[in-house]
Amino acid sequence: MKEISTSEFEKEITLGKKVVLDFYSSECPPCEAVAPKFEGLSKIYGDDITFLKIFRQKNKELAEKLGVKSSPTLLFFDNGKEVADRLSGGIKRSDIISHLDSMIPEEKVIAIKSHIKPSVSDFDVIILGAGPGGLTAGLYLCQAKVNAVMVDIALPGGHVSTTHEVSNYPGFIEPQAGYMLSHNMSEQTKQCGTVYKVAVDVTKVDLEKKEVTIDEFETLRAKRIIIATGTSPNFTGAPGEKELKGKGISYCATCDAKYFVDKEVVVIGGGNSAVEESDFIARFASKITMVHQFDKLTANKQAQEKLLANPKISVMYEHEPRSFAKEGDQLVTEIEDLKTKERKKLVSDGVFVFTGFKANIGLFAGNLELDQWGYIKTNEDMRTNIDGVYAVGDVISKKYRQITTAVADGTIAAIAISKELD
Ligand SMILES: Cc1cc2nc3c(=O)[nH]c(=O)nc-3n(C[C@H](O)[C@H](O)[C@H](O)COP(=O)(O)OP(=O)(O)OC[C@H]3O[C@@H](n4cnc5c(N)ncnc54)[C@H](O)[C@@H]3O)c2cc1C
Repeated sequence: MKEISTSEFEKEITLGKKVVLDFYSSECPPCEAVAPKFEGLSKIYGDDITFLKIFRQKNKELAEKLGVKSSPTLLFFDNGKEVADRLSGGIKRSDIISHLDSMIPEEKVIAIKSHIKPSVSDFDVIILGAGPGGLTAGLYLCQAKVNAVMVDIALPGGHVSTTHEVSNYPGFIEPQAGYMLSHNMSEQTKQCGTVYKVAVDVTKVDLEKKEVTIDEFETLRAKRIIIATGTSPNFTGAPGEKELKGKGISYCATCDAKYFVDKEVVVIGGGNSAVEESDFIARFASKITMVHQFDKLTANKQAQEKLLANPKISVMYEHEPRSFAKEGDQLVTEIEDLKTKERKKLVSDGVFVFTGFKANIGLFAGNLELDQWGYIKTNEDMRTNIDGVYAVGDVISKKYRQITTAVADGTIAAIAISKELD
């Protein structure tokens, strides 16, 4: 794997080679999560495909010329031409693999796969998800000498690692940078001795058997499972959104706001995340237009007051996005006035979407009892309806989703499990 700069780009991609190029940024958790996958795959595919990395902040002009609008973005070249769809945002290892496989002959793919040997390892507890809920459960289990493994599709930290500032986590007088708070939580659990399997693909989860398969070939078995997989942002569902995701539409302000210095941005949403993240984006952008479906913001009062006092930010109440399209370098967001049904176009340099969340249960929803919104039902010990399966944090059915409530759930589940296994 090699780090390149703009001056080497042309030469590196046009030497008749097959190349995958990773545009990454600093302070970008999805970039950090892709890095170990990229490096691991470079060892497997490196004889056939050249793996290159380029730092987007230092090579802005090239990124703009290539239309790279999101970090990370992976581009695939064969003899100077892009040959596969770009990957951006929270990139799965399996998606990179399928792109790489499409670039080389089938017999090579078979030969590469034949070198990978399946493995099985046993633990007392598998914790799925290393956000505040999972990390706290890991810490308590480790301190109780219970052998736990922490599994995450990204790097540890969950939503906190992409929150620019946290001012309501007890124990800190000054607001804390989210990535530092999550780093400290993760290091505390890691230093205790919890095994980490992070930035992996979780390819199969069998809650009844208490088995989790990662990266297709590594099976983890345990006596108990804690589900701490949190939530993911909702899409607006408007036409054009999927196509422009990572190409002008972003869901992560800490990753992408810095590329909007003196630019105009549209933010969709009006809840806590939209308001807090708009405040952060306003450090860079010259103008922010928020599009919110209700007649009032739904964020907490303190955050609302700060936002409304910011002269760069205006809010279009009772409007919803209807479509997204690209015109040259700009994004056109068509919005509808919910009262008059009139449609208008907002032209901007980029769009950020913060329109609520859904529980991350896709891989294992099967027999779990859920509430009407798709969150996992638990009892006061965080037990689900499946024997030996617990759930904690934002993924469970509850009224208030905060770091403090997630760490409380993690504590309860870990103590309950430690007592059971004792
Ligand atoms: C923008 C924003 C700002 C916020 N600000 C605050 C604040 O100031 N104060 C506050 O108290 N709360 C805040 N919150 C809420 C807080 O971040 C959450 O309540 C908290 O992070 C929940 O922790 P969790 O461990 O349940 O889930 P998460 O933090 O969502 O972590 C879940 C983890 O599970 C992983 N995962 C997902 N699917 C899988 C899978 N299939 N297998 C394995 N791992 C998986 C994810 O990668 C992630 O690391 C904010 C949230 C957002 C989005």
